Amino acid sequence: MAAKLGNEEHPPEIIIGKFKGVDAIVDFLHECGHLQDATSTRTAISAENYYVENFFNKDANDHSPERMKALSERSTAVIQSERNAWAYALRNTRKLEQQFGINIIEQMGGVSDVVKYVNSFLDKYEKSTIATELEYLGFPIYTPQDAEKIMKEFAA
Ligand SMILES: [Zn+2]
Repeated sequence: MAAKLGNEEHPPEIIIGKFKGVDAIVDFLHECGHLQDATSTRTAISAENYYVENFFNKDANDHSPERMKALSERSTAVIQSERNAWAYALRNTRKLEQQFGINIIEQMGGVSDVVKYVNSFLDKYEKSTIATELEYLGFPIYTPQDAEKIMKEFAA
C-alpha cells in the first residue's frame, strides 16, 4: 500500500493491493496516517527529494557538512513521518476495535507482535534509506543503531 498526497488537481489517494489478512487494516490506517499528517509527510518528501537531487549517487567521497546535514535531515524527517503514521494507525486500530467490537491486535498476535511488526517497518526505512547511503559513503554500518549514532553526530 502507498499513499499519495493530493494537490489542487488530484485528490489524495491510497493505492491498495491484495487484502492478505488482518495486517492490511493496520497498513491501510498507516497510509491514512500519512494523508492525515500532510505537513510531516511533505517535510519528509521534500527532505528526501532535496537529498536525492543534490547528492544521491554522486561522489561517495563527498562527506561535506552540507551533504551530511541533508542526509541527517532526510533521516529525521522520514523516520518522524513514519512514526507518526504508525502512531495514527495504532490509535485508530484501537478505535475500530472498540467501535465495532472486533479484534485486530489480538489476531495479529497481541500487542508485542504488533510492536514487532511496526518496528520491522521502521528498521526497513532506516536500513533502506539511511544505512544504505551511509555504507555508500564508506561508513561501517553493522546495525540500525550504528546508523543512528552516525546520524546523531551530524545532526549536532
Ligand atoms: Zn509510511
